[in-house]
Amino acid sequence: MTEPTAIDPDVPPSGPGCVECLAADGWWVHLRRCAHCGHIGCCDTSPSQHATKHAGATGHPLVASYEPGEDWFYDYRDQQFYEGPVLAPPRAHPADQPIPGPSGKVPPNWQELLN
Ligand SMILES: [Zn+2]
Ligand SMILES: [Zn+2]
Repeated sequence: MTEPTAIDPDVPPSGPGCVECLAADGWWVHLRRCAHCGHIGCCDTSPSQHATKHAGATGHPLVASYEPGEDWFYDYRDQQFYEGPVLAPPRAHPADQPIPGPSGKVPPNWQELLN
């Protein structure tokens, strides 16, 4: 976590759920927030792993958890967890959003579909 430009605490999150999953009727387990541009993507346990794909496609190296009560950052470059600044609100997805989510999109056999 040596490059301050990797984190822009003033950028709000892109929305309540994974950008790509919402566009494609997909679903996720946990959500990650790009610390640079606010992109919300799904975690590596999720079927589509959009947070990691976003980091790979853009070079934005840091994500923050977008789960209620979690405040860690993760750096893809060294695969380490860090503490970081307080990002622009909201700091997590809505509390009534189920895990996995979003509501109505999770298949009954979701546990067989995890990475
Ligand atoms: Zn996704
Ligand atoms: Zn980004």
